[in-house]
Amino acid sequence: MLSKKIEDALNEQVNAEFWSAYLYLSMSLHFEHAGRPGIANWFRIQFQEEQAHALALVDYLNARDAKVVLQPIAGVPAEWASVKDAFVATLEHERKVTAMINNLYAMAEAEHDFATRQKLNTFVAEQVEEEDTVRQIIDDLTLVGEDGTGLYQIDRQMATRTFTAPVL
Ligand code: MG
Repeated sequence: MLSKKIEDALNEQVNAEFWSAYLYLSMSLHFEHAGRPGIANWFRIQFQEEQAHALALVDYLNARDAKVVLQPIAGVPAEWASVKDAFVATLEHERKVTAMINNLYAMAEAEHDFATRQKLNTFVAEQVEEEDTVRQIIDDLTLVGEDGTGLYQIDRQMATRTFTAPVL
């Protein structure tokens, strides 16, 4: 059985993952509207990934016979000055999520909740991947700068991203 503290913290993480999903859907809609369909596609898939993160935690809470309580999802920004700005905001956000996962991990370890700690291992690995991917995209965007042809190429490339459910 989960402690109340871990149960509450995991419920908070569920909300945070849904907030991330909402943030990336907002970015997707912004770039769809701005005529960048490839970037919009990339963020739409990111939206799906975040929903998968939330549902993996929901499934874990259910498996541990804990109660999942869905809280309101806070509002998200709707405008970004550039493609690079959105990816910089994404990296900043993912670093916050990594800190949240680390806190959860430390909590599970302190309570000798080994099952929760093991579940979180996949999330720790997932965060390394998320941050690395976004950093590489920022590097590419820095390289092309304001060059229209470069941005067009990146947009085309991002149009090819497809959703693969993360194994959590
Ligand atoms: Mg996530």
